[in-house]
Amino acid sequence: MSECEVLIGFGSNLGDRRVLINQALQALSDLSATSLKKLSSLYETAPVGYLEQGAFLNGAVLVKSSLAASELLAQLLAIENSMGRVRKERWGPRTIDLDILFYGNEIIDEVDLVVPHLEIAERIFVLEPLNEIVPARQHPQLGGTISELLHKYQLSHPEEVPCEIVAVPPEVALDEVRDGIFYRYSQS
Ligand code: ATP
Ligand code: CA
Ligand code: CA
Repeated sequence: MSECEVLIGFGSNLGDRRVLINQALQALSDLSATSLKKLSSLYETAPVGYLEQGAFLNGAVLVKSSLAASELLAQLLAIENSMGRVRKERWGPRTIDLDILFYGNEIIDEVDLVVPHLEIAERIFVLEPLNEIVPARQHPQLGGTISELLHKYQLSHPEEVPCEIVAVPPEVALDEVRDGIFYRYSQS
């Protein structure tokens, strides 16, 4: 199985959100045949759908993985479960949510896995972090790059306030990256 560039979106709105996101990033980098390459800033956004819940922290990470998409999904769900995620209402509060946004250029349409993620072009809290790390990536179905999709979104939602950046990924020396320090947001 060859290595594939995967983009994973993450979000948390329950508990100590930043600590939970750091834990999830650590768990991701601990997966076999998987390494983290580039991390976005953390963005804070008001909830969508079910509104009676706390604000979200969202971000995205570029990963290289040799895991098959279905195997990667199973691992993401296992990380969510191990971190105490309980599914009640859809779009309800969660300790951690890990979504496969892109898996290389593959188009996957299975009962339990749809890639690219269906909502990429409709969610500012996905488009902004993606635009930070992979602005030139083409969407294999919609055509256009991430930065073009973000621009389109902004034109069609002139009233919407942009997500606020609340943490930037640490800049560290390359030898520290090996120890995983690169993948941790610091407390502010
Ligand atoms: P949304 O998918 O709209 O962001 P959500 O993340 O809240 O909603 P979940 O409850 O986390 O939805 O996931 C429900 C199911 O979605 C998962 O069990 C998984 O099988 C399925 N799923 C389909 N496509 C994907 C994908 N690209 N990434 C992650 N899960 C996916
Ligand atoms: Ca999601
Ligand atoms: Ca999810």
